[in-house]
Amino acid sequence: MNALFHIETACSLAQVRLRVDIDRRTLQARLATVVEFAQARARLGIGPVVLSRAGYVELPGFIRCPECGGPLAADVFEHNVDTGMPDTFGVHLCCTELQEELAEARATDTVPIWNHNFLPFQWAAINRLATEWLQRNVRVAP
Ligand SMILES: [Zn+2]
Repeated sequence: MNALFHIETACSLAQVRLRVDIDRRTLQARLATVVEFAQARARLGIGPVVLSRAGYVELPGFIRCPECGGPLAADVFEHNVDTGMPDTFGVHLCCTELQEELAEARATDTVPIWNHNFLPFQWAAINRLATEWLQRNVRVAP
């Protein structure tokens, strides 16, 4: 009886350790893929994604909504006219979990009214990360 309990406990702990190890390795592999892809693109001279005009860009999966963890889109509304690079303060982030509002904003070309709080201290780090990513990866065509 006691031995069976110990075996079951040991198995449960081993399963938890295995899950933690798999999650850790998965995250490492994802990050390595992002870095390798960026390095390969730079090595091959492949330029940034070009938007035909300022607008929404879906951000990569490692940039998530700090309020709900959902995917984010960026609204690039200001850019350098010479280089097409998004301006540091010319980007709004939008949580795409709020699909209805985003769809309506796209359809009517208006600014959506979000039910997230968008508190600056919650969003500052993700804003910076997203803007850096956009400036590396996105250009707005005239
Ligand atoms: Zn969200």
